[in-house]
Amino acid sequence: MYWEREFETLERNKLRSLQLERLKRTVKQAIQSPFYKELYQRKGISADRLRHVEAIRELPFTTKQDLREHFPYGFLSLPKRDIIRLHSSSGTTGNPTVIFHNRHDISSWANLMARSLYCAGVRDTDVFQNICGYGLFTGGLGFQYGIERLGCLSIPAGAGNSLRQIKLMQDYGTTAIHAIPSYLGRLYEVFQAEGLDPRKDTDLRLFVIGAEPHTEEQRQRIEDMFGVKAYNSFGLSEMNGPGVAFECTEQAGLHIWEDAFLIEIIDPETLEPVPDGEFGELVMTTLDREAMPLIRYRTRDITRIIPGVCACGRTHARLDRITGRSDDMFIVKGCNVFPMQIEGVLLKVPEVGSDYLITLERINGVDEMIVEVEVKKDWFNGDIARLDRLSKFITHQIRDEVLTKPIVRLVEPGSIPKSAGKAVRVLDKRVFDSVKL
Ligand code: ADP
Ligand code: ZN
Repeated sequence: MYWEREFETLERNKLRSLQLERLKRTVKQAIQSPFYKELYQRKGISADRLRHVEAIRELPFTTKQDLREHFPYGFLSLPKRDIIRLHSSSGTTGNPTVIFHNRHDISSWANLMARSLYCAGVRDTDVFQNICGYGLFTGGLGFQYGIERLGCLSIPAGAGNSLRQIKLMQDYGTTAIHAIPSYLGRLYEVFQAEGLDPRKDTDLRLFVIGAEPHTEEQRQRIEDMFGVKAYNSFGLSEMNGPGVAFECTEQAGLHIWEDAFLIEIIDPETLEPVPDGEFGELVMTTLDREAMPLIRYRTRDITRIIPGVCACGRTHARLDRITGRSDDMFIVKGCNVFPMQIEGVLLKVPEVGSDYLITLERINGVDEMIVEVEVKKDWFNGDIARLDRLSKFITHQIRDEVLTKPIVRLVEPGSIPKSAGKAVRVLDKRVFDSVKL
């Protein structure tokens, strides 16, 4: 049932004491780095001042900007000879940031990954295919070490080349997969083009999907297409990568491993904690990292803690599905819009295919939100009236959700450009327009 019963079901008050002990150790360790040394000395902060976990609120935040300004070694808390690996983020929203690990960190991360996979129901009898870029991106090696620690037969497949992926699945009888959700719709199309049905022609039973925002609708589509259970996996390179928070088989939120991370949810404007159960920005502190501890790191990810306890018996808090980053939100005609709101609407429409793209443009001096949507292959037959009806329907549904009317364009399957890694859902061309003027 559990990978580490002792830690996963630890009573909350004991978990809190463990956190305090580890927080003090972390602060002591962090002070060895040039960045925290200078900052904490200037502010007169020391580990002894921390008498309870809540006292963390007196410490300053750490931001992505800090990581960039002190690139590459400013956060290193150990001599370079003790470091055995570095990873960097995919740079979706700017320059990459780098994280360093010593032997302890890599081992502790592998353990958290194994714990996470076990919690989602992966077992050592599984044949696990990791469809994910190996290299600086943490999803490759992060999963690899976890799968091996758990004891599955691992297939380090890497990303892309769907025909090869399908061949691997069939040759070795793959039962479990990790992939980004936006890739799986495309993979399914390749199955279909080959005249194959993954439900019948493979042994797949369990997917781990994550690394990018997606909706409940997207999960359900993936589960239906492949005849599997799909579990949400959340992580970010600054907090190792995958293995931060994972769904258990209840599929009722993502358990965040509180013996390894201290979490806070704050209002990104006031920086004050939000009331229990409300949405805000996730702020995280590493509790078990030696080479590069981070304290009160602002992830910019928007989520909330789901109140109550989980039926699985784990005592670690559950995060709600991450709806996106605070900087994903865009404003059009005065309305605040998150791309996932649009995805939620689109994927409820059965005729809609797997991809969509939101473009923001200034047309005749007015901001417009253009939503291009692929429709399913078997539905696209050139009947203009039918397309028109569908496009009107989607337009109304989106307007009801985000309170501003989009321009909806239905397009053929496969016509929206695919990115190599995480899906790009929004193109904001308004910035360039104003530069031209
Ligand atoms: P980058 O910041 O360049 O994308 P990372 O690979 O570190 O690099 O990406 C981590 C980010 O990916 C998270 O902060 C979050 O915004 C997003 N993310 C990861 N997993 C999920 C998930 N399961 N649901 C939603 N967003 C996710
Ligand atoms: Zn649970």
